[in-house]
Amino acid sequence: MTREAEIAWLAGIMEGEGSFGAVSRGKSEYAPRVALCMTDRDVVIRAFEIADCGRIYGPYEVLESNVGPGPFKKRYQWIVQGKEAIAFMELVLPYMFERRATKIQEILSVYEELEFRKTLLYKFWSNVVQVDSCWAWQKDKLSLWHETKRSPRLLAFDLCGLERPGRSVRDVCGNSKCVNPMHMEAGNALNRS
Ligand SMILES: [Zn+2]
Repeated sequence: MTREAEIAWLAGIMEGEGSFGAVSRGKSEYAPRVALCMTDRDVVIRAFEIADCGRIYGPYEVLESNVGPGPFKKRYQWIVQGKEAIAFMELVLPYMFERRATKIQEILSVYEELEFRKTLLYKFWSNVVQVDSCWAWQKDKLSLWHETKRSPRLLAFDLCGLERPGRSVRDVCGNSKCVNPMHMEAGNALNRS
């Protein structure tokens, strides 16, 4: 089998038997998850080998079923989580039918947005030095403009989840480098009272 045929085969299995989801805890924790649960051990192992990520769990005893009385075959589960799950979803997405594809795209876009926010938080705080209660911005005011289209002061309101007092803000602490939202009021430097 060519690599492409392997991926198409795996996508077909996942279309029928797999599940794509994400566990979210609070606002910042979002854990994408791919799982395949089957009684066919060889198929689960083949899926794991082709994808080359995640882990196989089992065998699990199946004690009850709504299909009918037992005994039941043991089940095996292949689970991929986090970044690897995202990479796997991107890999099989082109082969998926609409319903699954929509679900996968949804997960990918939420994940991407959260990753962007994390990166932005990191960039923001690595440019700030705390001086007393002031947050002194270390770079020029346009340094995160390319990503965010806003000044560091307004960005601080957004990252802290605070409502901006106006379209532009000025400091009340007298520190022209300060970006602490608690030290801001509506207005600009020209009409300082
Ligand atoms: Zn300040």
